Amino acid sequence: MTAIAEGLTLEETAVAELAAGFRGQIVGCDDASYEEHRKIWNGSIDKRPALIARCAGVADVISAVRFARKNGVPATIRSGGHSFPGLSVADEAMVIDLGPLKGVRIDPQRRTARVQSGVLLGELDKETQAFGLAAPAGIVTHTGVAGLTLGGGIGWIQRKHGLSIDKLRRVDVVTADGEFVTASADENPELFWGMRGAGSNFGIVTEFEFELVPVGPTILAGPIFWKMEDSPEVLRFWREWVADSPDDLMTIVVHRKAPPLPFVPEELHGQPVVMVIPCWIGDLDEGEKFIKPMREFGNVVADVCTRKPYLMHQSMFDPSFVPHRWYYFRGLDTPELNDEMIDITVDYALRIKSPLTSFPIWQMGGAISHVSDDDSAFGARSAGITYNIGCSTENAEGFDEERQWVRDFWNALEGYQSSVYVNFMSDGEESEARIRSAYGASKYDRLKALKRQWDPDNFFRSNQNISPD
Ligand SMILES: Cc1cc2nc3c(=O)[nH]c(=O)nc-3n(C[C@H](O)[C@H](O)[C@H](O)COP(=O)(O)OP(=O)(O)OC[C@H]3O[C@@H](n4cnc5c(N)ncnc54)[C@H](O)[C@@H]3O)c2cc1C
Repeated sequence: MTAIAEGLTLEETAVAELAAGFRGQIVGCDDASYEEHRKIWNGSIDKRPALIARCAGVADVISAVRFARKNGVPATIRSGGHSFPGLSVADEAMVIDLGPLKGVRIDPQRRTARVQSGVLLGELDKETQAFGLAAPAGIVTHTGVAGLTLGGGIGWIQRKHGLSIDKLRRVDVVTADGEFVTASADENPELFWGMRGAGSNFGIVTEFEFELVPVGPTILAGPIFWKMEDSPEVLRFWREWVADSPDDLMTIVVHRKAPPLPFVPEELHGQPVVMVIPCWIGDLDEGEKFIKPMREFGNVVADVCTRKPYLMHQSMFDPSFVPHRWYYFRGLDTPELNDEMIDITVDYALRIKSPLTSFPIWQMGGAISHVSDDDSAFGARSAGITYNIGCSTENAEGFDEERQWVRDFWNALEGYQSSVYVNFMSDGEESEARIRSAYGASKYDRLKALKRQWDPDNFFRSNQNISPD
């Protein structure tokens, strides 16, 4: 017997057998690269897995699943490692790491992309934009395509082109039995339905196929700033302004202490500000006309909403979400922003302590709401607004206080909640009832039936879990 990690012992021969047939790398806790590979994006998560199986291909994924099943080792699945609550790593478990799977193949004629699971959003954008195309995805380049897509996938072009899952055409999946299957509208359609919104529950996706849409390469986007004390009026104006906005427009509102960036006037650095960030992907002259009233509202203190490459805008938030800082998030959806919610939002925003904390309020609707609710497992198509209340500190210092601020803020808004986006949920505090509410009762029952079919032993359970029982 050999001790691989505290609390878990495995037959030495079993691990040796796995390693011998593995094309990628098996990393144990004594290996030099263990510290590097056990880390995930959220620095507040400090887990010590037993083994990290860095897969080089589908065969490795199959071997890893079969090994874990045979030896009774709990497994977690990691692609981009950006789960807010750190669901892709656990103590004494085996991390099945898809990170090394970096293949992307664009077919510009058919306008499709085949994307392996370790691909990050910026990597996908780089390949698609070479052809003036894009797949709807998120707003930070180092997020994983896999986890983001399997929960739904929201981002800057969602109001025109829908969620990531709305452009998903096919997935390759390794099941809990270590079998390989494909799911699409024609093959295993019920699995394909569940994969689009609750995907981490049913298998390990090794490759995605997306339909692509033309975007840019030049778009009109960037933040407009006001002092945070003006936020009650700014939010009310924004609410009316976006009420009938064309689907070419998507906006995010951010409250934070102004970062010391060159385009922010020096006297504002560290001062509380509110930003409205439009992203217009239609005709640029029409966009300028539509955005004008917002950028002329009140006392704008900085305005960097301008024509620029889509790729540049996609990385705009990267400096706010640097890997390995400490983070905590809780999300909620609401049909609309009412006056009470505005008061609560501004009240809490003014109490932000950390210079790194920033929380986005997302304008939803548009193409997301034009797709039938039955089309996929995703449960939040009718959201008008999505809050992702989050905090960040450099390290443990001040983190507990800032996290308590998130919890209090979320509690104050809870009564207005209509749904929640699973990728913006935290862990531990999310009960089965809340996961059920993320999908709605009838979809949840349908997902449970699917779970019983594809994963009756709940092998895939380090996720927003749909229990088979
Ligand atoms: C900085 C940052 C920015 C974000 N921005 C956005 C955004 O703009 N839009 C948005 O929609 N979301 C956003 N999110 C949330 C994001 O969608 C989720 O955190 C998502 O889970 C990240 O996917 P990942 O592959 O990086 O994560 P991982 O931590 O690797 O995985 C997350 C979950 O997905 C499961 N999973 C991972 N890979 C697979 C796979 N191949 N097969 C089956 N299950 C798998 C894991 O088991 C785990 O439960 C953001 C998160 C961060 C940290």
